[in-house]
Parts: sequence; structure tokens; C-alpha cells
Amino acid sequence: MKKLLFPLFVLIGFQSLAQQHLLVDTHNDVLSSQLLTKADLGKLQRSGNFDLVRAAKGGLNAQVFSIWCDESLGKGKAFSRANREIDSLDALIRRNPKKIVLVNNAAELKQAYKQHRLAALIGVEGGHMIENRMDYLDSLAKRGMRYLTLTWNNSTPWATSARDETSAKLKRKGLTGFGKQIVHRLNTLGVIVDISHVGEATFYDVLASTTKPVIASHSCAYSLNPHRRNLKDKQLKALAKNGGVAFVNFYSGFVDPSYDAKEQLFLKKHARELNALNKIYGPYAPMKLNELHKAEADKMRPPLSMLIKHIDHMVKVMGPEHVGIGSDFDGSESYPTGLDSVVDYPKIVAELRKLGYKEEAIGLIFGGNFLRVLAANTGK
Ligand SMILES: [Zn+2]
Repeated sequence: MKKLLFPLFVLIGFQSLAQQHLLVDTHNDVLSSQLLTKADLGKLQRSGNFDLVRAAKGGLNAQVFSIWCDESLGKGKAFSRANREIDSLDALIRRNPKKIVLVNNAAELKQAYKQHRLAALIGVEGGHMIENRMDYLDSLAKRGMRYLTLTWNNSTPWATSARDETSAKLKRKGLTGFGKQIVHRLNTLGVIVDISHVGEATFYDVLASTTKPVIASHSCAYSLNPHRRNLKDKQLKALAKNGGVAFVNFYSGFVDPSYDAKEQLFLKKHARELNALNKIYGPYAPMKLNELHKAEADKMRPPLSMLIKHIDHMVKVMGPEHVGIGSDFDGSESYPTGLDSVVDYPKIVAELRKLGYKEEAIGLIFGGNFLRVLAANTGK
């Protein structure tokens, strides 16, 4: 009996941790990979980080699904790919109407929470998805786009990315006139401007142009890991001044400054296998490689405490009103030890409590802040 009681207590303890607060994750890539895997996300999956069964177990109340393809698809293809990914979200919702519902504003999100249904939101990742067309932007907004990440790793003709601003010889950096028109249009339509992935010049141009609070949907702190995808303290302060929120990314490479070098060695060692996997899985080949060499990949994962440090640092710089969670689940090959899927959010809550975080601050970080920014953008 004793043997049984303990795990039961742990399980109940875990669930109550999550259920006390609204839990929102602002970045999950599963819809992009699902086009390839054809996984039925309504059912428990053996691989990947997300499905409706595990989302419920982890206490997840709202998920922003990223709509993305890489730049190789290019003009003439990216917008239709975006629509296919939204189609598959619609199909998931149609098959599971009691479990998940598409929401367009904060009021609808709260309603879904009351109904114990997962609130699904759409975030389009990368300005290339609109193929430089304002009518495509409008069309995606109509289908439910609630944020647009202005660039992915690739720049658009109207906004420069973090990768290109730090590694390419650019004639100009930041937003063009058309880029500013896009920010204005997003503000008007109630679509949040997302500055994850953009370069610093674009970041400051956005803050000078936007009339609404903006977000970084999945970024970590640069001062803990000087990666071009992470945000410098000065940027974090500017974001807080705008009323915006930075949602912390779980990807090991953004969390841990020593991860990149370890991963490069790992990829080199398995180069031939990676090459073969590339032909089948494209951008998801590194994820597959990690699955096939799990023990080895597990050794490279940073401890959970390192992720907690990013959250804590951002809270110290910006205050708990400006920090959130944007896991990047199903979009990366590695996360800190213990974070295997959407089941594991309560572990982060537990760590923050250990650090002495008050329930009010935890409530803001896990959902309240997103709700505030969403309402400020949609007006509801
Ligand atoms: Zn991303």
C-alpha cells in the first residue's frame, strides 16, 4: 500500500500545480512537422512533444500553434503551405470539439478555459509566409492568425532577421517603409507583432512603429547565453516599456551556452546518418537523429535549473508582468532534462515556487501576461 500511495500523491500534487493557474504556451511547431508525420494529435503519440492527451495531463489551457515552413519553399508556395497547416488544425478541432477550440481574442480564450477545452491560437512564423502581399496577411488574419513573427532566420525584403543582421553583409538593416505598413496593418487587425527571430535593428524599428504591445514568442536571455536568437537586457527593458512580453524558449541551444559545440560534435559524428535522414525528414532530421541516439543526446541536455535561470533573469530585468513561456516544443531537437513534452510544465512551476515565487507572479508568467497583451491587441 505504501508503495502505491507515494506515486499517487506525486501525481495528484503535479496536477494541482498546473490547474491553479491559466497555462499558456506561445510557441509549438507540431503543425509543421505533422504534415510529414501525419500523426493524429487527438491521440497519445509515442514521439514528439505534443498531443491533446498529454496537453490535458500537463494542465495546458492555451496553445499558440506556429504556422511555418523554411525559406526553401519560397514564393508561390509558402502561403499555400501556411493554409494547409491551418487546415490540419481545423481538422484536429473538428475531430475533437470537446477538447479543443479555436479562439480569436482574450474573451474567447477565457471562455474555452471555463469549458475545460484547450484554446488553440494561430501564430504565423516568418514574414516570408505572406509572400510580400498585404492581401495574404489579411487572409491569414481572417483564418485566425493572432501573431506574425516578422522574420524567421531568413530576412524578408522588408525586415532583417537576427541571423542576417549578425552574419550577412547587409546594405540596410531594420524595417523598410513596407515593413512599417505591415506593423501598422497588424496593429489595426488585432494581430500581435512577434519580434522573436528579428535582428536588433528591426526590433527597435518595430518598437518605434507599433501602437500596441508586442511579444517575443520564443526567445531566451542573451546575457546568460550570447546567442543571436536571444534578447539583450537593453532589449528586454525596451520590450517591458512597450508593455510587451518575452516568452522563454526551452530549446537547449538557446538556454545553454555550451550546447552548440556539443551538438556540432554529435552531428559530425553521425554525419552520414544525418545526410540520409535529411532526405526523408528535411528540417526535422536532427530531431530524428536525437531520437535514434537517445542516450547520447540525453547527455547533452542542460539541467532544468538553467532554463529557470533564464526565466528568473528576465523577471529581474523586466518584472513578472513581462515574462511568459513559449516552449518551441516540436520545433527543436533538445530541451533541458525533465522537459520531454507538454506534460512537464508543472515541473517549471514547482521550480519557481522553490525559488520563492509568489502565486500571483506565477499566474502572470504562465498565462496572465499573454491574456493582457492579447486583449490589448484584439480589443476584447
Ligand atoms: Zn522559431
